[in-house]
Amino acid sequence: MNYQNFFSAELAKLRNDGNYRVFADLERHRGQYPQATNRSGKGAREVTIWCSNDYLGMGQHPSVLDAMHEAIDTVGAGAGGTRNISGTTHHHVLLEAELADLHGKEAALLFTSGYVSNWAALGTLAAKIPDCLVLSDALNHASMIEGIRHSKAERKIWRHNDLEHLEELLAAEPLERPKLIAFESVYSMDGDIAPIKEICDLADKYNAMTYLDEVHAVGMYGPRGGGIAEREGLMDRLTVIEGTLGKAFGVVGGYIAASAALVDFVRSFASGFIFTTALPPAVAAGACASIRHLKSSSVEREGQQANVALVRAELDRIGIPHIENPSHIIPVMVGDPVKCKYISDILMDKFGIYIQPINYPTVPKGTERLRITPSPVHSEADIKHLVCALGELWSHCQLARMPQAAE
Ligand SMILES: *Cc1c(COP(=O)(O)O)cnc(C)c1O
Repeated sequence: MNYQNFFSAELAKLRNDGNYRVFADLERHRGQYPQATNRSGKGAREVTIWCSNDYLGMGQHPSVLDAMHEAIDTVGAGAGGTRNISGTTHHHVLLEAELADLHGKEAALLFTSGYVSNWAALGTLAAKIPDCLVLSDALNHASMIEGIRHSKAERKIWRHNDLEHLEELLAAEPLERPKLIAFESVYSMDGDIAPIKEICDLADKYNAMTYLDEVHAVGMYGPRGGGIAEREGLMDRLTVIEGTLGKAFGVVGGYIAASAALVDFVRSFASGFIFTTALPPAVAAGACASIRHLKSSSVEREGQQANVALVRAELDRIGIPHIENPSHIIPVMVGDPVKCKYISDILMDKFGIYIQPINYPTVPKGTERLRITPSPVHSEADIKHLVCALGELWSHCQLARMPQAAE
């Protein structure tokens, strides 16, 4: 086999389908987010970022940066080892206590990313619990799917957010068989929210554990940023709550929060936790500062929600189709991979607006979209400019508008 030709031919197929991924080279400017410099073959230019998962701008927050600077200046750069072999620093211990408190759980466990936390925790629980059946929502994130697959446990997929289907699958099993229901609160591509309470009710009725990925909700929902489960008073009903430190908290890392015994179990058996270097202590310090800030400050959450409402209202005014949902994610539907990429390119080149096109396999073919994530640090002028640009491109590409459009 000619290996290089194989790689090139596979990539050419991706390009022809409009699904080849091109990364934007960005340099964010301290204190000036969402502005950034974008460099490409066409030179350097200033752009406004509209698709970041640094949802609240905490990656630029002075208290987060101060905590990270201070940690580097006092304890240095890396952790120097796995958690077991000299890599557990005091900053890690403090952060795990902060996370357990955030979710009202006895304990929490840090991982190097949210992806790793799902992969390792689900992989370990499902593999080690004898005869465990995993019931997985059809739209679960790749990291959960990989973890479940890795466990080799039996798995059944329930139709997205479909309680009847979930109950049907649960009821078909003996009550005493161990079961784990894995799902998310806010689904990142459509922005819809799971019926957490009803899922917990089913879990109780059929003797199942629950594993909730709150990655797109932590920091942003609930009076202390504990997520949708906090907002709805349900945290104590979930067996495991999983989250990230890389999105609304603005740093990097992942975690689970659960009972002391479950956390100790994963700590003791998960390969993806045990055999990897701990996060740098400065990262832990920054995340800790971010969580603490968002526990007591709602200004960021309220600012975000106000801007989300404003963007939606402006899109509605000119009939740009977007999925209605109860979250902060605004999926603007294009429905064609080539047009989606084209619009994204023109937004960048002509309007200085950066929105990454979301194509297959991240979303199903035919549902290609621009996923807009307004933050509290976008200005009203940023919003007007965005909606104006989208209006112009919608006409240019002859894309359909919603009927109530005024223009
Ligand atoms: C981003 C994401 C993760 C992974 O978190 P990282 O910290 O980015 O690795 C897990 N679950 C969902 C639903 C996500 O969107």
